[in-house]
Amino acid sequence: MRTLMLEASSFADIELAAQLLRAGELVAIPTETVYGLAANALDEAAVAKIFAAKGRPQDNPLIVHVYDREQAQSLVKAWPFTAQRLAEAFWPGPLTFILQREERVPGIVSAGLSTLALRVPSHLAAQALLWAAGIPLAAPSANRSGSPSPTLASHVLDDLNGKIAAVLDAGPCAIGVESTVLDLTREIPLLLRPGGVSVEQLESVLGRRIELSPALAHALPTREAAPSPGMKYRHYAPRAQLTLVRGDLRSFFDYAVREKPDGLLVFGSDEISLNLPVLRYGDSPEEQARQLFARLREVDELGWRTVLVRCPPKEGLGLAVYNRLLRAASFREVG
Ligand code: AMP
Ligand code: MG
Repeated sequence: MRTLMLEASSFADIELAAQLLRAGELVAIPTETVYGLAANALDEAAVAKIFAAKGRPQDNPLIVHVYDREQAQSLVKAWPFTAQRLAEAFWPGPLTFILQREERVPGIVSAGLSTLALRVPSHLAAQALLWAAGIPLAAPSANRSGSPSPTLASHVLDDLNGKIAAVLDAGPCAIGVESTVLDLTREIPLLLRPGGVSVEQLESVLGRRIELSPALAHALPTREAAPSPGMKYRHYAPRAQLTLVRGDLRSFFDYAVREKPDGLLVFGSDEISLNLPVLRYGDSPEEQARQLFARLREVDELGWRTVLVRCPPKEGLGLAVYNRLLRAASFREVG
């Protein structure tokens, strides 16, 4: 299959992408978080193609993207008050709700779970496409399973060229890390994945503490039941072996001198006086989120096998950056 390059700035291309999706094809689409690999969420055969193209484990459920709150409500059995509050505050935007799935959504979307992951993206091209297609779109990140998520259309092609019908190009993603995943089927909301909306923002809107899944902090054996199946898998990872180094720049240097890695992944303004190749991923959490996945891809392009990474702060959006890096490093963290 030849993968078409479509332009999000063209109405004709948006319409073509919508037609392909209605016909059961896969189209990679821009969102404010990362590029998603979209299929008609109500078409079981189309959704099956997502798992095949990505090489995604069959038990890892997908997030369904909808045009608005009304369409979201039509796909779930109950719409709790917390969902209403959070949707008013953060939709459209990078926050995914886990709610009870309505039967008309095929089970394959949720990998057989009784729940469904849902969000309304804020990216204008994603909204235009959802409007033009008139169907909910199941869309996990548009990368090969396990590798860093795509924040450019070219990343999508690097992973999926020839395996999908089209890519809708809208340039770089504004946020750069995936959505926050929040389980709303319980009394106290449970954070399954930190992302574009921070814990602090959620708690300030809800006026209460939320719970953080204990599985966020450590590796799960693949056989253990995960609260969110995606937690079990190697994720976001380049081929290179990453090690996160906590602490200040001086202790980072000490560690680098001892370990002699192939390269360093450091903050934007770190002054590096070591004779080692350097990549930088920004200073603020927002810049770090935007740049992280592209840098992880560059690590492999440069052929680095071992990389030391400056550990980001864990507040606000930083928690999502830290979470992706920790998984990319297979939980290797020192200092
Ligand atoms: P991706 O879209 O590639 O970022 O992956 C979607 C993430 O949402 C994965 O980590 C999934 O495990 C998680 N997810 C999707 N649906 C559910 C669900 N029904 N319950 C718990 N987690 C989910
Ligand atoms: Mg993903």
